Amino acid sequence: MNLKLLHLKVLQKGLLLMVRKFSLLFKCSLLASLLMLQPLAAQEQLTEQFFQGALIVGKTSPTNKVSLNGKAIKVSSTGDYALGFSRDEKNNSELVIISPNGAIEKRILKPLKREYNIQKVEGIAKKIMNPNKKANVRAGEDNKKISAARKVDSDLTAFAQGFIAPIEGTITGVYGSQRYFNGVPKRPHYGLDYAGKKGDPVKAPADGTVLMYVPDMFYSGGTMIIDHGHGVSSTFLHLSNSYVKVGDKVTKGQLVAAVGSSGRATGPHLDWRINWFNMRLDPALVLKLKPLK
Ligand SMILES: [Zn+2]
Repeated sequence: MNLKLLHLKVLQKGLLLMVRKFSLLFKCSLLASLLMLQPLAAQEQLTEQFFQGALIVGKTSPTNKVSLNGKAIKVSSTGDYALGFSRDEKNNSELVIISPNGAIEKRILKPLKREYNIQKVEGIAKKIMNPNKKANVRAGEDNKKISAARKVDSDLTAFAQGFIAPIEGTITGVYGSQRYFNGVPKRPHYGLDYAGKKGDPVKAPADGTVLMYVPDMFYSGGTMIIDHGHGVSSTFLHLSNSYVKVGDKVTKGQLVAAVGSSGRATGPHLDWRINWFNMRLDPALVLKLKPLK
């Protein structure tokens, strides 16, 4: 080997060493910035989907205590917990995790704003705008049963195992859309609507327990609520039939009901809703949730 070549080799080696040093430095600073973004300890996990209307699933040590905006949240024996953002949530939430030795992890969750489909309709007749008294009384009774079912805070952890679509139909209505009649805002649409024929099979989107089935609610007709645990539940509206009873355990994909047009429906379709207690969440976002390992 001549001297010139040796010199070149030494130079190369030096350069390589420098590059390695730099890349190590870069990796360290990247790690540091990641740690700053991620104040939760390494074992803390959250599904990273912070949109308005999202169900958020977390995993922590089962012995830790979790609270959201000062309110305690149930942690399962496997460390799973659930929380959600409402359709119009604008404020940040504070998630606090306290370990048995008193170590505190705090994390600020910022809801990501969404644009919803808004429709303005003018010239609506008075009759449609003011439903009659009898209808209001019936709807009030229905709502009592629905809100009682949605208060259930069971130990099931099916909400953390991922969801499947309850029916293979075209989506004809989405979460969050809203109509204004003569300038007056109507209740936003909170379900995911699927086209279907009367009798089409409706499957459980996740494991659960049947909390409620009423065949003839005033607005929603045949209405079923399935508990997936920790306040997370599915509601199906306008059903024509139920194949399960209240209290039955169901598994993901199990046939539970049939599509219909009962109640005040324009035609046969399935309206599927996801609730976190009394908060309405977006089923389309729930379908994208990947279970935490
Ligand atoms: Zn609907």
